Amino acid sequence: MATGDGQAFNPWRAFLENLDRTLQFTHAAPQTLEHLRHPRRVVSVAVPVRMDDGSVTFFTGYRVQHNIARGPAKGGVRYRSGLNLDEVRGLAATMTMKCAVMNLPFGGAKGGIDVDPRELSRGELERLTRRYASELVDVIGPSKDILAPDVGTDEQVMAWIVDTYSQNRGNASTGVATGKPLTMGGTLGRVEAPGRGVAQAIAGVAEREGLALGGASVAVQGFGSVGRFTALELEQRGARVVAVSDTGGAVYRHDGLNVTALIDYKNESGSVDGFPGGKRLDPESLIGLPVDVLIPAAAEGMIFEGNAPRVQARILAEAANLPVTSRADAILRAKGVTVIPDVLANAGGVTASYYEWVQDFNNFFWTEGEIHSALDEHMKRALDDVASVADRDGLDLRTAAYILAIGRINEATELRGLYP
Ligand code: NAD
Repeated sequence: MATGDGQAFNPWRAFLENLDRTLQFTHAAPQTLEHLRHPRRVVSVAVPVRMDDGSVTFFTGYRVQHNIARGPAKGGVRYRSGLNLDEVRGLAATMTMKCAVMNLPFGGAKGGIDVDPRELSRGELERLTRRYASELVDVIGPSKDILAPDVGTDEQVMAWIVDTYSQNRGNASTGVATGKPLTMGGTLGRVEAPGRGVAQAIAGVAEREGLALGGASVAVQGFGSVGRFTALELEQRGARVVAVSDTGGAVYRHDGLNVTALIDYKNESGSVDGFPGGKRLDPESLIGLPVDVLIPAAAEGMIFEGNAPRVQARILAEAANLPVTSRADAILRAKGVTVIPDVLANAGGVTASYYEWVQDFNNFFWTEGEIHSALDEHMKRALDDVASVADRDGLDLRTAAYILAIGRINEATELRGLYP
């Protein structure tokens, strides 16, 4: 994986750097920290797929269960060309931290396949997914390791995973994955949950900093599943979404883009580029715009040493996972930018996934309003928890979130002891 400047970015190393930076502030037992440095289970599987032309292509799939001290492993499935074990390991560890920050009864996991799903037919994608899921049948499950969508996967992929797992097990096991279609145990409010959570976190931090969200200017890098709902939620809360980018280009409008019209435009054209409701912008310049809030919602390592000095925003919300490198993080801290870390900012997704998992176990489903208000309340509580550590110790929100998470994981690890 490369950062925005094309340099190799290693998510696992980035996680270890975050962990090391936090150590001086925690009183966790050495055993807990060693657990966090040693993922519990790392699985690599060959995924042979019969292609439409009759040939067989081998892909490589991964599943990393980083930690299960607080509950079953939980994490997304990513289909991305070039995916490697350190990317999966780093994202799995981030999930461990995120679930602990949100006080969810989960550990952390991540998985995926080194494949560009856009190059496969629907049939090939289904066979790939089913073979991957069947290779993992013995290590995943509703009480073991629960999967979810991430970059390159969606609710259809989750439906195939649930079906494959259920066929192999001989019972209906909808709880093995979240982010499912509504008709087979999915939850209302899941699709918009990550973006809604990002907006809620920004609203809470803005309030702490005395920044009025009404009229505040916002720039969003990445207009996929997370980016578009973040923009929509912020627009609904009165913010001006002045700039948005994706891999096709970027668009700008000083008095605020019409986000709904932009979503419709992207759905039709495939990119925000050329949106008639704004003017074209060099995507590179989005990072340095004089906005109140900057939201990297595209991918890992997009804010790096080379472009961090250009950031002018007061608040940077990590809607993507690990979008800021360690060096860039130090630069932003020195500049006084308030960074809302990924383990808090984008945790709305896994929180709604938790609600889905609970509903699957109970076979009783909540209304959209119940999901939204539970999520808003949950995000608010998590921000309060993190902010009180930050205020108590005079630290930034990332370090505070890590201290909080490590403390909770440490408590569970100590209570469990070591088997045998
Ligand atoms: P996605 O594939 O739906 O969207 C990614 C978007 O980023 C696309 O619009 C793409 O064009 C854009 N993009 C990629 N490279 C870019 C670049 N260099 N400049 C500008 N735009 C670029 O993915 P997603 O599900 O929205 O996930 C985005 C990030 O959020 C990932 O880090 C993911 O792990 C994280 N995340 C996702 C969820 C979820 O539920 N989907 C939850 C929490 C965190």
